Amino acid sequence: ITIGEALRQAAAKWPEADALISCAEGVRWTFAEFDARVDRLAAGLLHLGLGEGDRVAIWAPNCAAWTLLQFATARAGLIFVTFNTAYRRQELAHVLALSQARALISVKGFKDIDYAQELAQIDAPALEWRVMLDEPAPEGWLRFEDIFSADTAILDEVAPDPRDPVNIQFTSGTTGRPKGVTLSHRNILNNGAAVGVRAGLRAGDRLCIPVPLYHCFGMVMGNLACVTHGVAMVYPAPGFDPVASLRAIEGERCTHCYGVPTMFIAMLAVPDFDAYDLRSLRGGIMAGATCPVEVMRRVIDRMHMGDTTIAYGMTETSPVSTQTLPDDPLEARIETVGRVMPHLEIKIVDEAGHVVPRGVEGELCTRGYSVMSGYWNDPKATEAAIDADGFMHSGDLASIDEEGFVRITGRAKDMIIRGGENISPREIEEYLYTHPEISDVAVIGVADATFGEAVCAWIVRAPGSTLTVPDVAAYCKGQLAHFKAPSVVRFVEALPMTPSGKVQKYLMRASEKEQAQ
Ligand code: ATP
Ligand code: MG
Repeated sequence: ITIGEALRQAAAKWPEADALISCAEGVRWTFAEFDARVDRLAAGLLHLGLGEGDRVAIWAPNCAAWTLLQFATARAGLIFVTFNTAYRRQELAHVLALSQARALISVKGFKDIDYAQELAQIDAPALEWRVMLDEPAPEGWLRFEDIFSADTAILDEVAPDPRDPVNIQFTSGTTGRPKGVTLSHRNILNNGAAVGVRAGLRAGDRLCIPVPLYHCFGMVMGNLACVTHGVAMVYPAPGFDPVASLRAIEGERCTHCYGVPTMFIAMLAVPDFDAYDLRSLRGGIMAGATCPVEVMRRVIDRMHMGDTTIAYGMTETSPVSTQTLPDDPLEARIETVGRVMPHLEIKIVDEAGHVVPRGVEGELCTRGYSVMSGYWNDPKATEAAIDADGFMHSGDLASIDEEGFVRITGRAKDMIIRGGENISPREIEEYLYTHPEISDVAVIGVADATFGEAVCAWIVRAPGSTLTVPDVAAYCKGQLAHFKAPSVVRFVEALPMTPSGKVQKYLMRASEKEQAQ
């Protein structure tokens, strides 16, 4: 079925149940209400003059309208183009030119960026309609509220196929320039439903979604999992805000919460954390980046999220390829990213492309319904990513044990090679996380005259900590092989992160390179 049909089924099954709650906006819709609004918005988009397969881009932080648009574009047979709220004009120009979007839906601005001004600086000849979510709409913009149409008969004229593209999603940009991934109804609806099963979502549950909607974590693992399972989507705030998230969990009695590890770290570090009543929580998902063992333990113990699962994936695979289950052995739930998802295949290969034995590290590849049709309008990049057998190559290093549990050991590009010794930054990060005064840490390789590369750690100290470089050295001595102990240690206020909370090691490397000169 299509995403539009999945929502129709939800509205028939759970009409009176809460579908969407946006705390900052005071929005609260049942599935029946949500479905009806989606119909009117989908009809309105078609009445504007948009036609099947046209691209509609959104540049806005999390809000109720965002999700209305996700489902309305799907129902109208349009392709929803989603990208980061922190993009500036260069990136915006690239996204609009690449997708040839005919409509852009946007807000006045977000954080310190004035969107209208950014947009005025670029040339986007394909763009015919600009739609403003905020009031009042500037000159030349349509009001969002004016688009809705009661004449929904027009929807009978479109019949999207589950294999049609429904979404062009830009990757996080953790390793460089973001790529536009083309995903179909079949890709993401199935993945969202399967992720919900593994996370233990049940009708009537309430999911706190502090992660951005413009990535799969929010729009697929969040929104689509909720709609396929009869679960309420709860948005705490437009951007990530740890206090707003804790308030939303308490106020809306959320049963589950999602986050990248950094978000959970931030929630746990809220000064009056213990004042929030989080006992309604049962589980959730941590994903998107390496999930440190210590953080996972704290989430299970201190946030009452006993059923928390870890998922691994990438935008190109809709996203999830492996996920733990609440009843997997605790050790596997903390240390691994779980087993392969139903109806998908994974393999681990060496540099020559041969499958390696169990327990041996190599590159993880995924095949099955979840693999993207390709990078939008970029057959070359698509060909480089998906091999002749249909496996998507992740660039991530991993191993699979005898029982099928997968461990992500790093990114191929992040591996440090010091004097011929391969060092996994992940291992050192995991160890440093166990220090009570270290609240966040990232390890990279930096140029070294003697060894080719040296280990460099950027550390964010816990509030009030006076940790020094010798303290860090002493903590590693005797615990880690001498060559793994960081020889360069820097204390920083914060790590360079994508707005979705992933450490951008390429920026750390650039900064280290500059300092070395
Ligand atoms: P870009 O491809 O633009 O450089 P990105 O790869 O970070 O950015 P995403 O598709 O959002 O963009 O993220 C997928 C990547 O996130 C994976 O390839 C993997 O490196 C990392 N990742 C996701 N989940 C996990 C996890 N549970 N453990 C470790 N790493 C993870
Ligand atoms: Mg990637």
